[in-house]
Amino acid sequence: MPSMLPELPYAYDSLEPFLSAETLHLHHDKHHQAYVNTLNDAEEKVKAAQKSGDFAAIRGLCDARAFNYSGHLLHSLFWANMKPGGGGAPSGDLAAQIVKDFGSVDTCKAQFLAATNSVQGSGWGILAWEPQGQSLVILQAEKHQNLAMWGVTPVLVLDVWEHAYYLQYQNRRSDFTAGFFQHAVNWDDVAARLAAAR
Ligand code: MN
Repeated sequence: MPSMLPELPYAYDSLEPFLSAETLHLHHDKHHQAYVNTLNDAEEKVKAAQKSGDFAAIRGLCDARAFNYSGHLLHSLFWANMKPGGGGAPSGDLAAQIVKDFGSVDTCKAQFLAATNSVQGSGWGILAWEPQGQSLVILQAEKHQNLAMWGVTPVLVLDVWEHAYYLQYQNRRSDFTAGFFQHAVNWDDVAARLAAAR
């Protein structure tokens, strides 16, 4: 089954002024679509190599698949992690798990923002469920796939590629990441993902 671009779960202009409709159109319709297309292309080429037995291009295909699969997965999560009128604070089991693993919600946010704001070049901040330790961990990803840990399940992700914010925020990445928590984060979605991951 080829991968498909998911529809945005809200209107393109509904996250304004935090995120403009122009930024969301470009980001979702162009950038995310390109990851989906290139992932499907790489998977077809892997299938063709399996058929022909010619694996001369397999290194590049593995690289393209890891990059574009991870980009597709993280963007799909990112759209769902936001909602119009988002923000506020986590509650219930999610809040309890955050307090257990970080001491407080404020410390978790501070670590998440520090990690996300300091991504070198293009990448992501990621809050993920780590099943061996039964705990939440904060990761950075460079590009979409580098610095990942095997087996963890991302539950909250924040894109800090320049295409995610540059039209509105230029070099002020930390204004964009602060705005994400103030205006857009959908804690109910994060809580549902944590419950499913557990
Ligand atoms: Mn992106």
